[in-house]
Amino acid sequence: MQGSEELYQFDEEFRNSIATVDEKGKRIWIHPKKPSGYYHRLRIVVTVFLLTLFFAGPFIRIGGQPLLLINIFERRFVVFGQAFWPQDFVILAIILIAFFVFIILFTVVFGRVWCGWMCPQTLFMEMVFRKIEYWIEGDAPAQRRLNNEPISFSKFSKKTAKHIIFIAISLLISHTVMAYLIGVEETYAIITHPPTENMAGFIGLMVFTGIFYGVYARFREQACIAVCPYGRLQGVLLGKSSIVVAYDWLRGEPRGRLKKNETNSASQGDCIDCKLCVHVCPTGIDIRNGTQLECVNCTACIDACDDVMLKIGKPKGLIRFASFNAIEKGLQKLFTPRVIAYSIVLVAVAGLLSFVLSTRSSVETTVLKVPGTLYQRTDDGFITNLYNIEFVNKTFDSVTLTTKVESPSSAMLQKIDGKSILIPPGGLIKGVYFIRIPVDHVKSARTIVYLGIYRDNELIEKVKVKFIGPVSKSSDMRSRLKDERESEKENENDNK
Ligand code: SF4
Ligand code: SF4
Repeated sequence: MQGSEELYQFDEEFRNSIATVDEKGKRIWIHPKKPSGYYHRLRIVVTVFLLTLFFAGPFIRIGGQPLLLINIFERRFVVFGQAFWPQDFVILAIILIAFFVFIILFTVVFGRVWCGWMCPQTLFMEMVFRKIEYWIEGDAPAQRRLNNEPISFSKFSKKTAKHIIFIAISLLISHTVMAYLIGVEETYAIITHPPTENMAGFIGLMVFTGIFYGVYARFREQACIAVCPYGRLQGVLLGKSSIVVAYDWLRGEPRGRLKKNETNSASQGDCIDCKLCVHVCPTGIDIRNGTQLECVNCTACIDACDDVMLKIGKPKGLIRFASFNAIEKGLQKLFTPRVIAYSIVLVAVAGLLSFVLSTRSSVETTVLKVPGTLYQRTDDGFITNLYNIEFVNKTFDSVTLTTKVESPSSAMLQKIDGKSILIPPGGLIKGVYFIRIPVDHVKSARTIVYLGIYRDNELIEKVKVKFIGPVSKSSDMRSRLKDERESEKENENDNK
């Protein structure tokens, strides 16, 4: 905690250890008190909405395609019903950059709100698994008693019931995650067929289930404290103007216990040191020590403290969403130079993304000279070049393409000029084709040929191709050699 040391000498000892590990390095199991209050009710509403979206997501279709599909195995991606292929890696990279800049900007302004309110780890842990634990084992003191008592029928049945439900929910989560990875139909096929028919899928589901069960039953808050990289970044992202869950030390200190039927004196702060804010904390920290890496902004301590303030007749908000500057100087500034700088970067990346998306073609054509070839002279008076031509259909429908030589008019694409080629949904067609130009029309060592790619008679792409020919007879020896060297060099570069 920074500042106001004249009012209160903060105990810095909390920095020497973390709340979930004892001096010998052994895990201290956290039993947070059951949360309740305004923010908790709000979180329930947000959780119901987000988890409904999460479980319904694989079934939601846009134009017959899933809302989100991240098929890393087949390198197929669908975002809001739009297909993306490995060829679109530039777009995916820009989307990722935009996402990270947005997260950074959001964190600089609103701190770690994402963690407590939207992160699947916290939502499932605090709003699903922890609630089941409260339901079966009771509130924190009852859980501690149950853990310490010797094994009995009651303890055995409670623990067994809890873990069976945990495994069932983990199975549900892993199937949903699998549906986002390989699609609903494939996941359904794994479920409805014997494991031997789809061993890889079955093992994948079991591994996911094991991971989710392990995280929610045992690892718990350690995922946020010790593993999550986003949590680790808080130290560099948060500033004095970031809005976080904060204790108002000016109002709360000097803290002191309040005896029954007593009101605290004018020299005493509003904090009565009841420690309820610590008891409800799922990561076991004392927010009165200031913003800490472990705080996931779950707001349980705000609710607990507001409840205490109401009971002792003080205004709510001793712990609240506020920035360091708002508490110390009474000044909440949203648009700091950092926020403005990140906003400019975000607008620039979003602009670039819109441009790339609006100019993205549904078909991609690549034309490259076959490595190691130059030109050939045919008996019927043509110069020919050999090309690898590749058509990628980035849509979910079959596409019929026609390829024509646009210019020069004397050039001809052997075999496929003007002919229709059917490319299946998400398919790729490759071929090796000659471009021919009558020898009299080849005026230089390099001729630029334009190929037009048509879909339903509409030109969708124009591809520029370099055609190598013999050097002009009128050239002197030096420029002929130069032309030939350049032609060879270009050929090599095109094939890289
Ligand atoms: S809940 Fe409020 S009053 Fe109680 S210890 Fe925490 S900050 Fe102080
Ligand atoms: S300090 Fe408060 S907001 Fe932060 S994790 Fe603990 S209870 Fe949640």
